[in-house]
Amino acid sequence: VAEPFDLFVIGGGSGGVACARRAALHGARVAVAEASRVGGTCVIRGCVPKKLMHYAARFAEQIDAAAGYGWRVSGAEHDWDELIAARNKEIDRLNGVYLKMLERSGVTLFPSRARIEGADGDGFMIEVDGRAHHARRVLVAVGARPQLVGIPGIEHAITSDQVLEGRLPRPRSVAVVGAGYIGLEVASILVGLGIDTTMLFRADLPLRHFDLDLRIALTDAIAKRGVRLRPGVVVRAIVARPGGVTLDTSEGPLEVDRVVYATGRKPRPNTAHLGLDSLGVELDETGAVQVDPAYESSLGDLFAIGDCSDHAGQGLDSGSHDLTPVAIAEGRALAERLFNSNPVEVAYDTIPTAVFSLPEAAMVGLSEERARKAGFDVAIYRTRFRPMLHTLTGHDVQTMMKLVVDKASDRVLGCHMVGDDAAEIIQGLAVALTAGATKAQFDATVALHPSAAEEFVTMSQPVG
Ligand code: NDP
Repeated sequence: VAEPFDLFVIGGGSGGVACARRAALHGARVAVAEASRVGGTCVIRGCVPKKLMHYAARFAEQIDAAAGYGWRVSGAEHDWDELIAARNKEIDRLNGVYLKMLERSGVTLFPSRARIEGADGDGFMIEVDGRAHHARRVLVAVGARPQLVGIPGIEHAITSDQVLEGRLPRPRSVAVVGAGYIGLEVASILVGLGIDTTMLFRADLPLRHFDLDLRIALTDAIAKRGVRLRPGVVVRAIVARPGGVTLDTSEGPLEVDRVVYATGRKPRPNTAHLGLDSLGVELDETGAVQVDPAYESSLGDLFAIGDCSDHAGQGLDSGSHDLTPVAIAEGRALAERLFNSNPVEVAYDTIPTAVFSLPEAAMVGLSEERARKAGFDVAIYRTRFRPMLHTLTGHDVQTMMKLVVDKASDRVLGCHMVGDDAAEIIQGLAVALTAGATKAQFDATVALHPSAAEEFVTMSQPVG
């Protein structure tokens, strides 16, 4: 009988791989089972292909802006198939890097689905490809997948999976349903690449849980970039027709080549066929494994991290943290605690996040609305300005920056930005917020001139 694994990780995405490698580094005998390509959603059909396509789309505005600086740029054309081929090649390369990293760390990879068959006092029996393996601990890190809504014809919709992985032929027109992270990012990519793009969403503004000033500024900016926005619209049915689909919406029919649904992601069905039910592991209604702050489920020695887990009731607002770096931080924290007796805490309160729309929107900390709801008496600092780049282009582009400050302690509770490089700027400010920076310390920081970022340390008068 083979020696049992110290840790069996189900799911080879960002979180699972990070935990497996860190555990192996500390001498644990580790296995990872992954039925799809190692790298997970982020690398294969999420963040990485998305960012590459975002770069591609960004050139549209840059080429346009170049004219204001004396460049004669004529005949610029975009080749969709060339971009998709280059993107896919890079994803293949990264998948190879992930495989090598696992191999070098001494982790055993099973390129198949795993199922937990049972648990006894000694650990877990896990079945992979008809063979049984024994493990002392199990980590469930199976992520989430796009959630489609139950309307007639929904089978004619595609999701970010098809946009970001594989070889979707170039559509001429697309409707994007949903105005969260993915809806905004996909719509921005498509419109930047010259595709007629309409975004339909049921709310009055995108990004429901973000700061209201950020939502308003972003809505204005992406409309100016050419995305047709249809707020307050409900899609009732999708009807296939030759070469495309017709959407039956609350505001009449809409004909497009493709419809992309970006209406959220949920752990089910990823967590459905792992044998968790028969073991009595508690899941919530979305299929998320309920875990405590140490990532342990209702069953001892069975852990879950990342998008497939939820810390409901533990004071951690994990629903808003389904992000790659959070899964990685959780995976490493778990491995450190289990195999290195090193208690590491994830800083959930100051997780920076960005929407890679055109322009970008990014934030760290609390929105004004959440801060007020949490009982803070806040001072608001806000600026809107035309970025220097556009003084010569004549383009009507605005950047928005905002600080939410606790009047009592002078601590900066939240930073929000819509504009170019927002993600890069907010990452730096996340360090300041994690360190508990006050507004006085922002004021004492010397500006870096000329930059857009300097506005974050030069806002002197509160607007509210
Ligand atoms: P989000 O939760 O961000 O947005 C979902 C959107 O779909 C909202 O506009 C929501 O509307 C709408 N919606 C939900 N249910 C329905 C329904 N039944 N009918 C109509 N509209 C509906 O989900 P995404 O799919 O955009 O992204 C999933 C998660 O992936 C994100 O929350 C994030 O954690 C992660 N992600 C992070 C990225 C990043 O960091 N850059 C990039 C991509 C994904 P309403 O507001 O009215 O509820």
